[in-house]
Amino acid sequence: MTADLHALPVRSVAGVTPAKAKELEALGIDSVARLLEYYPFRYEDYRIRDLSGVQDGEKVTVQGKIYSEPVVQMYGRTKSRTTVKVFVDPLFVSAVMFNRHFLKDKLRPGLEIVLTGKWDARRQQLTVSETEFPGTGPAQTGTLQPVYSVTAAISQRWMRKTVKQALTQFGALIAEALPRPLVDKYRFMPRRQAVYRIHHPDDAEEGKQARRRLVYEELFFFQLKMHAFRALQRKRADGVAHEFDNEVVRQFVRGLPFKLTDSQKKVIGEILHDLKQPYCMNRLLQGDVGAGKTVVAAAALFASVKAGCQGALMVPTEILAEQHKRSLERLFEPYGIQVGLLTGSLTDRQRRDTIASLHMGLIDVVVGTHALIQDDVLFRRLGLVVTDEQHRFGVNQRSVLRRKGMNPDVLTMTATPIPRTLAITAFGDLDVSTLRELPQGRKPIKTYALGHDKLDRVIEFMRREVREGRQAYVICPLIEESDKLDVQNALDVHAQMSHAFPEFRVGLLHGRMPPQEKDAVMNEFKDNDVQVLVSTTVIEVGVDVPNATVMVIYDAVRFGLSQLHQLRGRVGRGEHQSTCILIADPKNETAKERLRVMTETNDGFEIARRDLELRGPGDFFGTKQSGLPEFKLADMMSDFDIMEMARDDSAELVASPEFWTSADTLPLREFLQREQILDGDRLD
Ligand code: ADP
Ligand code: MG
Repeated sequence: MTADLHALPVRSVAGVTPAKAKELEALGIDSVARLLEYYPFRYEDYRIRDLSGVQDGEKVTVQGKIYSEPVVQMYGRTKSRTTVKVFVDPLFVSAVMFNRHFLKDKLRPGLEIVLTGKWDARRQQLTVSETEFPGTGPAQTGTLQPVYSVTAAISQRWMRKTVKQALTQFGALIAEALPRPLVDKYRFMPRRQAVYRIHHPDDAEEGKQARRRLVYEELFFFQLKMHAFRALQRKRADGVAHEFDNEVVRQFVRGLPFKLTDSQKKVIGEILHDLKQPYCMNRLLQGDVGAGKTVVAAAALFASVKAGCQGALMVPTEILAEQHKRSLERLFEPYGIQVGLLTGSLTDRQRRDTIASLHMGLIDVVVGTHALIQDDVLFRRLGLVVTDEQHRFGVNQRSVLRRKGMNPDVLTMTATPIPRTLAITAFGDLDVSTLRELPQGRKPIKTYALGHDKLDRVIEFMRREVREGRQAYVICPLIEESDKLDVQNALDVHAQMSHAFPEFRVGLLHGRMPPQEKDAVMNEFKDNDVQVLVSTTVIEVGVDVPNATVMVIYDAVRFGLSQLHQLRGRVGRGEHQSTCILIADPKNETAKERLRVMTETNDGFEIARRDLELRGPGDFFGTKQSGLPEFKLADMMSDFDIMEMARDDSAELVASPEFWTSADTLPLREFLQREQILDGDRLD
């Protein structure tokens, strides 16, 4: 949309009073451009049909001849019911209108009339919502009318009229926004026509074509932003160019207690390459649970430290921070690399010490929760930030860390493989590395779904496993509404398990426990001093105890699929056969379907795809800060093909040197400047 129309206040449209302008503003419509871009979400069909094909209860527009005098019944002063017989070939229909007694004199027998309303097939009756007399006034008959999302203060009718008025008054000012070659390539209708036609299509196909073009445009500009940002980041080259000797990292890898998988080697190679470049790495590492992401992060952090920088590893929970800190310490100890911990539960004193050490460069790698990104945390030379399970961090939090004095390389790790459909939008600005295989020798986890009545069998199974030397997790039902209930539940299940297993030690872990206690329990579990660990979902991500082989999840249908997969991923990490038991009494088809998916596949990508299908993109990430953009017109899922087109086109455009200099693309660069992508850079 041209800037001009954005600058024109919506009051410029005839009929928009200051009061109405206020109401429009509440809908986000503050300019003429915004009004024109207030697209209908469907159309109402006023094309005349004959009644033979109309279903009972369907809304329909028919034309007929008035056959009888109208009969008006009044209820009170304003309410009325008007009935009139109309011949709609070949039927005599009784048309019922509520509160339209003022039409009485117009409803003269013999007149042609167009009626829109709901058809009652049994009574042969039409409950009329709109009437029109052919040849009088502007006709909606025979058209598709736009249906807008409106408020109590703005009627559908008024909105239709006003948008139409805006189109008449300002339509000529709508300028093409897409580069000419792209319009030609897809034979899109020109923008002006598309905007007109999306409001007023001649038929459904035309509406679809108009929408398609405008969806493309929306996605094109979205993708252009991301690709331009990425290209500029490379061009600016103001990141940290890590200087280290590959051989030193190779040595570190050789010193690991296991051989890396081919995937791990490849991914580490990709990351090391990025680290050396002067631009900012912005890479997503996705790999199924248990694929071995931690060691990849360790190699990257090692390289950063060897280049004289500091590294940070951000994780979503304190338990995970502790765990990662310990495993990094173990790996880095022979090299004299100092690992620090920064979480919310440090004492003031510990916190101050850690912060000071970081600032002085006495700590090489710091592991922490969001406490890492508080204002008083400064680094001497931050080179690399790794976030584990990043979708739990808001995008803003990530950028806070990035803004901290430096422009560190960023590696984002996730075990929830992002389905292609979402990745292209949510992570379109990232390079992606994928761990495609699990370390050798892992046995696929067996998953069963059982009703609550089978609990005895589950307990016997657990007993057998623990007697063989293995360990078990029991995950309590998730009670989101109440922390207190959550804890109570965990206590109940713990009591139940302690009673069932007098011969074992049963541990308890929940979010309300003090960090030291959590830590102590985790350590006991790790050392097999505790054999059965009852826990809420605090153990969900990342926890790594290879000797645990049984995962029992209560009320499994309450969890999302990806979350179940995460929880299940806590077992199957060692050489022993592992089992996951989902306890649930599914009440509906969706619940059954979810359990079916879990018992049928161990493939995180497949599960993520199904999860997305069952829950939709909004819920997929399980948090509000999903980082997913909101589109006016486009639908991330159903318009995926267009998204791909837009992505390829914008990537190609940005990759050509002319894009940054040519006069033809100046409007696009101006757009990027308005969006602060080109901020500080020259337009040519
Ligand atoms: P995730 O990708 O889920 O974060 P982890 O990094 O926690 O997985 O690794 C899972 C387990 O697999 C850990 O115990 C880790 O030490 C082990 N592991 C990682 N890579 C390998 C490998 N190449 N061979 C054998 N075991 C490995
Ligand atoms: Mg992990």
